[in-house]
Amino acid sequence: MRRLALLPLLLVSAFLVPAQAAYAATNLATSATPSASYTSPWESVAALNDGIDPPRSNDTANRRWGTWPDTGAQWAELTWGGAQTLRAAEVYFFADGGGTPGAWNPPANLVTPLNEVWQHVESTYPDLYGFRNYGWDQVMANRGSINYCVRWDSSATVTAAQRDQIHAALARQFKKWMDVMAGHNGWPYSTVPVKVVGWAVRDRAQLQWSDSSVDIYVNDIRENAPQCAEPCGRFFNQSGTYPDCPGGASHHYDMSLWLTAGFGGGAGGDWGQRIGSEYFIGNLNADNIHILLHEMGHSFGLDDFYDWTPTGQCCFLMKAGSATSITDFDAWMLRDWWRHLKSRYGY
Ligand SMILES: [Zn+2]
Repeated sequence: MRRLALLPLLLVSAFLVPAQAAYAATNLATSATPSASYTSPWESVAALNDGIDPPRSNDTANRRWGTWPDTGAQWAELTWGGAQTLRAAEVYFFADGGGTPGAWNPPANLVTPLNEVWQHVESTYPDLYGFRNYGWDQVMANRGSINYCVRWDSSATVTAAQRDQIHAALARQFKKWMDVMAGHNGWPYSTVPVKVVGWAVRDRAQLQWSDSSVDIYVNDIRENAPQCAEPCGRFFNQSGTYPDCPGGASHHYDMSLWLTAGFGGGAGGDWGQRIGSEYFIGNLNADNIHILLHEMGHSFGLDDFYDWTPTGQCCFLMKAGSATSITDFDAWMLRDWWRHLKSRYGY
């Protein structure tokens, strides 16, 4: 009897697949008898060596072996009737965004600076695990979308075409951050659509459309700027319910896009992003509207780097002025936030 003991694993779902080889390999697994420490009633120990190569890690069409909810060391074994020569063995892990091990696999050179960033975040924001209005909380509360309201803090007029271009540009920038998360470490959404539900303006006549595609809030002035109705805003209703929002919860907004005439810099937080209206209008077709991208990073918790730089890093979007697009390091900082927050959503 010859046994191949597979990796002892903490909690696994796996398919055993034949090794990919340049020569004509024979998959010996299918001639073995599979056994395991435990198999969930809805799983199949026979999936270990049925020869099926799953098309993707969250494949639910093909059977698989799994031990949920058993934890602790688990094992799987293939037993042959006689001696075999094995050139390779591979295990394919199931990843459903649930209990199977997540993919925290940054490039080796980013591990140290990422850990430095997270330690800095934890020491700077001791309440970070209690705070419940990050962009993460908003996207999860909406089950994978985000609603915006535009604060038009300008005396300029806006055409319907400009309104739609502003929405499109906002959505394109938001997508750049969300694309970083797609398929990563259990993040459940392949896309996170952006909906613009409202506009706030001083004078209704500035908005040169008559359709009712967005809610319009007129001359509700806060912080010396037009504001979308507070009963509809997530910032003001962090429980995520909007009982006094005209039109109901579907008309709520999670973030504001605050566009201010003559404003040169940017600001961002859980409430949304503020940038110059001329800057945004002048960059509607730009690939990277980098000030907006930077401020969106803040809405997902990413910090500034005014007074320090993580080891080995020179230039990245969240270090203002050093990059104009989302870099690998920015992407991994975003993923690190998800790594540390995802348990609050049951992931
Ligand atoms: Zn900043």
